[in-house]
Amino acid sequence: MPPSMTSPARPSARPTVAVILVAAGRGARAASADAPPKQYRQLHGQPVIARTISAFLDHPGVDRVLVVIHPDDRDLYAGAVAGLGDPRLSLPVAGGVDRQASCLAGLAALAVDAPDLVLIHDAVRPFIRRDAIDRVIEALGREVAVLCGMPVIDTVKRADAAGYVGETVPREGLWRAATPQGFRYAEITTAHRALAARGVTGVTDDAAVAEMAGHRVLLVDGGADNVKLTTVEDFEMAEQHLTAEAFLACPDVRVGTGYDVHVLEPGDGVTLSGVFIPHDQRLKGHSDADVALHALTDAILGALGDGDIGKHFPPSDDRWRGAASTLFLKDAVRRVAERGGILAHCDVTIIAEAPKVGPHREAMRAAIAKACGISIDRVGVKATTNEGLGFAGRREGIAAIAAATVRLPLGNG
Ligand code: MG
Repeated sequence: MPPSMTSPARPSARPTVAVILVAAGRGARAASADAPPKQYRQLHGQPVIARTISAFLDHPGVDRVLVVIHPDDRDLYAGAVAGLGDPRLSLPVAGGVDRQASCLAGLAALAVDAPDLVLIHDAVRPFIRRDAIDRVIEALGREVAVLCGMPVIDTVKRADAAGYVGETVPREGLWRAATPQGFRYAEITTAHRALAARGVTGVTDDAAVAEMAGHRVLLVDGGADNVKLTTVEDFEMAEQHLTAEAFLACPDVRVGTGYDVHVLEPGDGVTLSGVFIPHDQRLKGHSDADVALHALTDAILGALGDGDIGKHFPPSDDRWRGAASTLFLKDAVRRVAERGGILAHCDVTIIAEAPKVGPHREAMRAAIAKACGISIDRVGVKATTNEGLGFAGRREGIAAIAAATVRLPLGNG
């Protein structure tokens, strides 16, 4: 055979590695009526599945990531991965009736340009670490099948039918199975196909497929943080953990202040903190004249040392005529994120004789929290009259002052 007919030699002995993420499930344990399937739920501002995909794309040894999705989830998936844009992320494939069938669908989709190794992973385990992926790939240099797990550290009891302790199970040698589960591609594909051909269904774990085909499966430590997000409590704990991590990564705490005034004129209502309040006056201005959000936007920009609202959105620019001021606020928050920081808190005081702000306070807090992408307990809104004194007291204008706490990574200038 001439040299050109042989497959091109790879420059190194590194095996090609594909990852199959199983995301076709419809688990109801963490679901609520208005929530998407848990793999698409937001976790710290990012869909779970996007976080999991990124964990593998961030590993230099991974050549390809393929996600197996439920056929009904095409739009959810497209939305979730919109920002990822990595050529190693393949178009998703539709799963089957159960996990076993979905894995086989993924393996079949890899058959053209088959990889040497395949790692099969639950989409709802977003905290898989690089060193665990390393251990699986490294072990597959010697083994056909490798299972990521966690040694059992708790004392294990087996209950009897009445709920009493039947026996204490010695925990020596006990592991909790997790993912990724890694395999030589050819062997696991053959094993899966053979099982399907025999009409066996409902096998919940690919290591079991390998075991049933007679392969030895090596256990490696997948890391204690490689948890599966299943319940609402799992999501809450993960959210708290990520928030704590983000705060620790941003020790440079800055407080900015902002102040703004707009003139009142006859009209039908005012927009304050993103909420329209019917009134016999309106605020004069180029945008929606939301004096409270202007003060808050300036507070955030002040914390960043990045000018003021007029610098980024000049009143001379016709694009901002009648604009909702949430647009300015969101832009300031985007600048915080661009610097790798977080908005930790914001607080607004509105100074007005009328209208009454109190009844709208919660709606205002919610509007600010939503625009800033932070939780409502990090937003304060207060109001005071000016005791009849000055321009505010004479109802000639409304003023607002604001403070914002921004946290940035060190060395952020
Ligand atoms: Mg203004």
